Amino acid sequence: MSECTITHLVSFYSALKDAHGLQHWWPSESRFETIIGAILAQSVSWTGAHKAVCALKDAGLLEPHLLFKAGPDTIAPLIRSSLYYNQKARKIMIFLSWFLDTCDGEISKMASLPCLMVREELLQLSGFGPETVDSILLYALEKPVFVADAYTRRIGSRQGWFSEDITYAGMQEFFMSRLPQDIPLYNDFHAQIVYLGNRICKKNPGCSSCPVRDHGIIQCRYAHNMNR
Ligand code: SF4
Repeated sequence: MSECTITHLVSFYSALKDAHGLQHWWPSESRFETIIGAILAQSVSWTGAHKAVCALKDAGLLEPHLLFKAGPDTIAPLIRSSLYYNQKARKIMIFLSWFLDTCDGEISKMASLPCLMVREELLQLSGFGPETVDSILLYALEKPVFVADAYTRRIGSRQGWFSEDITYAGMQEFFMSRLPQDIPLYNDFHAQIVYLGNRICKKNPGCSSCPVRDHGIIQCRYAHNMNR
């Protein structure tokens, strides 16, 4: 694996931001909406998740007590566009049960709890993996937690930063041990990776139009090895 320093990572991020602009994540009107959006965005495009969030909002249910009272049978048909909607309706109920019990349904209480404690408790909930939990921590609670995902794995391994079989924790540690604990940076860095992975660094990558193929000290190992 190639040596990757903070300077490399900041340069990589700057190249993406210069090319694609700030991504302004997470697009929502409230922190509670961000949490529900993070659950609905599991394994689906943001378009489908956003449509489901809007349906809950239009039904006047984007409030913790009302949503819990509505129950999974009411929620599921409204969030159909997010796919796996029965599972996701159950996950929303599981989260709400924890949220109402532990935080009285108040985001400010949730945000005031120790970050590691919240992370561990959410990870215990059925259907909550590290990507969803860390998205909640970073984007809803504004905690300095780097979010990794399948795009991070693909792009990081192609750049030569780590191998493709690295664990989620390994990817997260890779970024957090190099970058300062900077919440806006963590916020937009992950969003830039998603943009790149979704539009350019696909399974069949469009290296010729990629802003991080060659940029200052950045040289993508995959693009050079494959002569793309
Ligand atoms: S140069 Fe190609 S392989 Fe490397 S990050 Fe860009 S699109 Fe992906």
